Amino acid sequence: MRVVVAEDRLNGLIQRSSNVVLFGHENPDGDSIGSCMAMYRYLEGLGRRAHIIINSRLPEYFSFLIPEGVVSYYTEAPEDCERLVAGADLLVFLDMNGADRAGGVAKAVEKARKGDVKPAMVLIDHHLNPKAEEFDIVISDTEVSSACELLYQVLLSQPGVAGDVNKLSLECAKALFTGILTDTNNFANSVYPSTYMAVSALQGRGVDRDAIFNHVFRSYSQQRMRLMGHMLQDNMRCIAHGVAYFTLSRRTKEEFGFVKGDSEGFVNLPLAIKDIKMTAFFTEEEDYIKVSLRSKGDIDVNEFSRRYCNGGGHRNASGGRLYMPMEEVPAYFESKVNEYFAG
Ligand code: 5GP
Ligand code: MN
Repeated sequence: MRVVVAEDRLNGLIQRSSNVVLFGHENPDGDSIGSCMAMYRYLEGLGRRAHIIINSRLPEYFSFLIPEGVVSYYTEAPEDCERLVAGADLLVFLDMNGADRAGGVAKAVEKARKGDVKPAMVLIDHHLNPKAEEFDIVISDTEVSSACELLYQVLLSQPGVAGDVNKLSLECAKALFTGILTDTNNFANSVYPSTYMAVSALQGRGVDRDAIFNHVFRSYSQQRMRLMGHMLQDNMRCIAHGVAYFTLSRRTKEEFGFVKGDSEGFVNLPLAIKDIKMTAFFTEEEDYIKVSLRSKGDIDVNEFSRRYCNGGGHRNASGGRLYMPMEEVPAYFESKVNEYFAG
């Protein structure tokens, strides 16, 4: 579904803005940083000053996209982030369906909106259930692969670009390509005819597809491969209703010298089994259990996550959080799977 509110005002807002802040979502991924960096590069081309705020650091293999000093991490420098928000006249939220998904900095956004000089709020997103009422401009489309694909369309429609991909800088094109490549898991999921149109044009613009592929899918450590082997051999459980799941405890993380990004994509692996239709991956974090859900076809894990895991996302890929000890997760999850497939 496409929801658009006042898209034609975007160019005017950008032209009048002097301090833009771009927000990525919590647990940032390639689409999050790709869409933020692409928007940053576009604004840079227009001579606009912009800054990116993301809740916490990305896996190291995305650093090829991020120049020094462009991104501030809220968990590391909350006061700097709050200052940036207070001084901004335009706030752009990418790859999330509501400002709360930006993490800790969302409070500063709420405060700024209640102040005398209200910054304008823009949403550019591809998730279900956009909180449209929070924004002045809404560009939300769930029938695209990624926020980067949607942003590609938005940028192409801007007056200065006017449909000519060569008007986008190579750095902007690379960032867009990265988000599409990662959110589709190398063109395995959520691929639309428009997705190929976008990547075809971006490759034509000069994006080196192999270089980006090597950065994001071939830059892992040995420990990651060994952890993957361990999770598949000793941890994966296949249960009724064609469901498989993993639980990654803090102890196992320590054992394998886990670093951020090491379990990226593991949740997809059991979907390669013929009869598996839904998968879950539970990761023990400091004060919650991070949930990742994936499915094939009509099984709606956005609904599952909204109902049972305090989260949401897309029909075939969603996430959330559980607040219980890891030992209780298997029984909880298995009972909710039974409930979900019974009803
Ligand atoms: P992942 O499993 O890769 O962390 O997330 C899959 C999808 O679910 C992403 O599109 C992500 O934005 C969404 N998602 C992940 N965690 C949450 C959450 O806690 N709340 C909501 N609403 N969406 C989430
Ligand atoms: Mn995305």
